[in-house]
Amino acid sequence: MSRIAFIGLGNMGMPMAVNLRKAGHEIDAFDTVPAALETAKMEGMAIAESAAEAVSDAEFIITMLPNGPIVLKVFDEIVPAARKGAVVIDCSTIDVDSAKKAHEMANAAGLLPLDAPVSGGTGGAVAGTLTFMVGGSKEAFDKAAPILDIMGGKLVHCGDGGAGQSAKICNNMLLAISMIGACESFALAEKLGLSAQAAFDVISTSSGFCWSVNTYCPVPGVGPKSPADNDYKPGFAAELMLKDLGLSQQAAEASGQATPMGAHAKDLYETFLAEGGAGKDFSGIIEFLKTASRS
Ligand code: NAD
Repeated sequence: MSRIAFIGLGNMGMPMAVNLRKAGHEIDAFDTVPAALETAKMEGMAIAESAAEAVSDAEFIITMLPNGPIVLKVFDEIVPAARKGAVVIDCSTIDVDSAKKAHEMANAAGLLPLDAPVSGGTGGAVAGTLTFMVGGSKEAFDKAAPILDIMGGKLVHCGDGGAGQSAKICNNMLLAISMIGACESFALAEKLGLSAQAAFDVISTSSGFCWSVNTYCPVPGVGPKSPADNDYKPGFAAELMLKDLGLSQQAAEASGQATPMGAHAKDLYETFLAEGGAGKDFSGIIEFLKTASRS
């Protein structure tokens, strides 16, 4: 059994840490919110006074934090305090440049860093079925794999430091574009007098099929159960999708790649959030698109 420091016990981090604890690992937990530490204690984790204290004896260090600046601030604290050779796995979704900076800091201190953002949401975190997209050395990946396997259903080693974040934002940019496309198709089908069921039965078995239609249909009452059947409660919040679209646009700008559909998707999610989409699932953008003016 390993000693694992877990920093950032929010909606995702807590169930991930609980699964590691259930698998028999010793967890040293830290979060800035006292209520999260209380829950961690009830789940059998040891509570640390600081991020630095949490990592001091750890073989593995996992961070699950809101954004790049917070990850770098936490790395400032934990990198000098960690044992040489410890594997440091940042599972947060952050910008590629911050991820690369975190790798540099950890490598310089003799640690084994990985960026390992996840897909699968809170449901996947609870069930231990997350997909991990991993960037970093093969040595670090091989050491981390048995630990990541407890929290995940699939691990993909995408390449060097930052490659996990790159894969994550490319996937989520496509997801946003395909979700908007699915919403537009169902909205137009309705205006043309088609039933949602007829539209679903055709699209989900024709060349328009995609995850946004077949698995996560934005229309209530058709397809497998999705947030549309629960008044668009997240699921995957529109705010988080906008965050990821911001990261993909940042990366597109930095790399010089044109992504006009990604840029437009970001604009649409910004407007959706400003006009009533806050707190809704990202598929709820269909309600906004149905009422948007045609011009
Ligand atoms: P969250 O806000 O619920 O959790 C973040 C946690 O980090 C909080 O408990 C917060 O108190 C803690 N924290 C903040 N600053 C800290 C610090 N300096 N030291 C220690 N702890 C600190 O967010 P979440 O939904 O758990 O998401 C975490 C990451 O996972 C984000 O990067 C998000 O984009 C990504 N993600 C989320 C989902 C999802 O469905 N929620 C899915 C995939 C990826």
